[in-house]
Amino acid sequence: MSHACTKCRRDNSVYFRAYSGEYLCKKCFVRSIEDKAARTMSRYSMVKYGERVAVGVSGGKDSLSLLYVMKKFFDDHGRSSDDLVAVTIDEGIRGYRDESLEIVRDFCSKLGVQNKVMGYKEIFGISMDEAMVVRPSEKMSSCSMCGTFRRRAIDLAAESAGADVVATAHNMDDQLQTFMINLLAGDVERIGWMHPEPVEYAGGMKKVKPFVEISEHEIVFYALQREIPFQSEECPYMNESIRTDLREFFNGLEKEHPGIKNNAYASMLKVSERMKMTLEPRGDKKCSVCGRDSTGDVCSVCKTVAALSLNRSG
Ligand code: SF4
Ligand code: ZN
Repeated sequence: MSHACTKCRRDNSVYFRAYSGEYLCKKCFVRSIEDKAARTMSRYSMVKYGERVAVGVSGGKDSLSLLYVMKKFFDDHGRSSDDLVAVTIDEGIRGYRDESLEIVRDFCSKLGVQNKVMGYKEIFGISMDEAMVVRPSEKMSSCSMCGTFRRRAIDLAAESAGADVVATAHNMDDQLQTFMINLLAGDVERIGWMHPEPVEYAGGMKKVKPFVEISEHEIVFYALQREIPFQSEECPYMNESIRTDLREFFNGLEKEHPGIKNNAYASMLKVSERMKMTLEPRGDKKCSVCGRDSTGDVCSVCKTVAALSLNRSG
């Protein structure tokens, strides 16, 4: 039996939000997602008027949805699309990345948003395909190596685009998984860095995650409703077993106990808020190789590059 939308009471619902008991029509559903992202952004002062925003866009459903939502946010606030740029990182994974680069390019031109692409090869001198061959051991996991590179590459691409803010599409599920990973690894201090309120450091880029209060499931449904194209092919080097296990764990719980993810997220927020107060301020230590902020003498990016090139030449 079809239900009328709980919000507008006019149209037939297309979505049942189990944790709130609401039936939503297409219009009310997409609006609820866009409003939620806008509320998150304003609550944590993620994007201020006049700031230029770089959105990290990979070609997956989350990042293309974020770009769409940001563009809408800019339009609704009378802001020019010139202050919005999509930054895309080409890891150099043959077959996999080529498809998504095209999807992103087409989507950006449809939205009228500039797309800046930078590759691992041009930045670090090595592509993911090459790194996988020369990595010193299996212990250097593909995704952790790739993640280290990607964070730096997005920073560099955003800087070169003159951005003040970098927005990424991490959602509530990603945050819960990261929270658990830190907890299980004994890295409780790191939970302090997970708080959605961006840390602004002098001269540094502000990092924001407008989707942190939205579940992955609802973003997928949003992308479908908005007919946002996305790459469905999986990366051949995907190696995130704990993350995948945790994703399934939380999804299983949510199915049996709707709302449990929201509760867990609220708890994470409280823990993160406390841990944030104990964080040591980032020093002004710089990496002796690249000159960027670093906790040690050499930053993790430069260490990885060095380990790879050692193996390549040796
Ligand atoms: Fe990189 Fe892992 Fe993502 Fe592949 S799945 S692009 S290796 S982080
Ligand atoms: Zn460095």
